Amino acid sequence: MLSRRSFLTGPLLAAGCAALPARAAAPAAKVQAAGVYRYQLGAYQLTALYDGVWYLPIDGKLVRNASAAEVNHALAAAFLAPNVLPISFTALLVNTGAKVVLIDTGTAGQVTDSAGFMNANLAAAGILPEAIDTIVISHFHPDHIDGIKTKDGDKVFRNAEILVPEPEWKFWMDDGNMSRATGAVHRYFLNARRIFKDITEEVRPFKPGAEVAPGIVSIAAYGHTPGHTAFAIHSGSQSMLAMSDTAREPFLFVRHPQWQPSYDMDGPLAAKTRSAMLDRAAADRMLVEAYHFPFPACGHIVKSGTSYELVPLMWAPL
Ligand SMILES: [Zn+2]
Repeated sequence: MLSRRSFLTGPLLAAGCAALPARAAAPAAKVQAAGVYRYQLGAYQLTALYDGVWYLPIDGKLVRNASAAEVNHALAAAFLAPNVLPISFTALLVNTGAKVVLIDTGTAGQVTDSAGFMNANLAAAGILPEAIDTIVISHFHPDHIDGIKTKDGDKVFRNAEILVPEPEWKFWMDDGNMSRATGAVHRYFLNARRIFKDITEEVRPFKPGAEVAPGIVSIAAYGHTPGHTAFAIHSGSQSMLAMSDTAREPFLFVRHPQWQPSYDMDGPLAAKTRSAMLDRAAADRMLVEAYHFPFPACGHIVKSGTSYELVPLMWAPL
């Protein structure tokens, strides 16, 4: 009988793999193909724009109500290495036919060296930054707003109005709130000022619940941040849910919606929001999209007991 080891190292290697280098006619590529995926929602064309990934070392305190061992077990169940959280970033472009709307803006290379590719992917999609009419922001964490400006402070999307959730604007632009903040949260306050302070005339706060662009309705999804907002997108008879950061990394927080990550500012409220939204997505069999889901960051949600599972969208031609 062939053992697993002899299967891996025996006849297969001798017959095929060992001979490969001598026959390789093409050099190995140094870069990945463009991170662009288009899909249709009614009459709207959606484009997932990959920005990159941040391999964040985690110190055992990532989840307030789960141990490091439980978190590593969940990572292993997703075939991921222990003690490192891969945080994927994908922005969503919505072309309604009349307007080009960008929901969140990528990191512009200001969070980690392994992210900041959204604009290159926008170019690969054949869309100029000046073609974007409206930017809609879900919340003010740096990975969602940094793409509004370059590292040097220049505006990237010259013609876009910038819509932001009103409670988010009020919270982060309040000097009293900033004076009480410490650590990373204090840096987020400073970063929000860096991004917005000289472009306040172009910023239009909206009340969660309002329609922010034709067919794009904002949804209060508080907890991750005080004004964190998701979006329902409708065209014709089709609709989808853009969950923003409601469920973050699906291999942790879709599977364990009750887990409270340290980056959810109000853990219990965020967990309640998360379960309610996952429940709605599963019950209504809605297409869902989320900023930190693996590229192309869209799929469906299946409920199993108190847990959920992301079923990724299958790559398809238009
Ligand atoms: Zn985020």
